Amino acid sequence: MNDVSDDSADLMMDFESDNYFMQMALREARKAYDAKEVPVGAVIVRDGSVIARAWNQVETLKDATAHAEMLSLTSAQNAVGDWRLDGCTLYVTKEPCPMCAGAIVHCRPDRVVFGCPDEKGGAAGGWINLLESNPPLNHRCDIVAGVMQEECVALLQSFFREARDKKKAERDLIKKRSEEA
Ligand SMILES: [Zn+2]
Repeated sequence: MNDVSDDSADLMMDFESDNYFMQMALREARKAYDAKEVPVGAVIVRDGSVIARAWNQVETLKDATAHAEMLSLTSAQNAVGDWRLDGCTLYVTKEPCPMCAGAIVHCRPDRVVFGCPDEKGGAAGGWINLLESNPPLNHRCDIVAGVMQEECVALLQSFFREARDKKKAERDLIKKRSEEA
């Protein structure tokens, strides 16, 4: 009986810390939002401490590879002084794309925790699963999906809604001007 209650206490701990670190990833995602970037944020945790944090900076850096996960992996490798991220967990607000999932597997963190699933393009089980099923890459990450999903989804939705509204307003303005001319 004792074992059972210990296990559930551990599970509860895990659940609470996954939420805690996802909050930090969300904070990074909000920085992306403020910079008019698609709001995705990531943090990498080892032994209960954050060793890297990053937000999507594709527009800022004019670099299509500057996804939050890629930037956080580089920063974590610098922090650790090794490309191997054994014992690390990567938290990211949206399911990693194939590029990021490929990079993640090469860096070998133990776990990947994400918020918003991406059925169309996700590479952690949404579209494909490169983290758990990748024979040539010889590493497997445990996946936890849907942590703080509502918050992560809401942030992305409000970003894309705003972008759509802005586009529509621009179109309406052009239309109005051409009617006036
Ligand atoms: Zn990516």
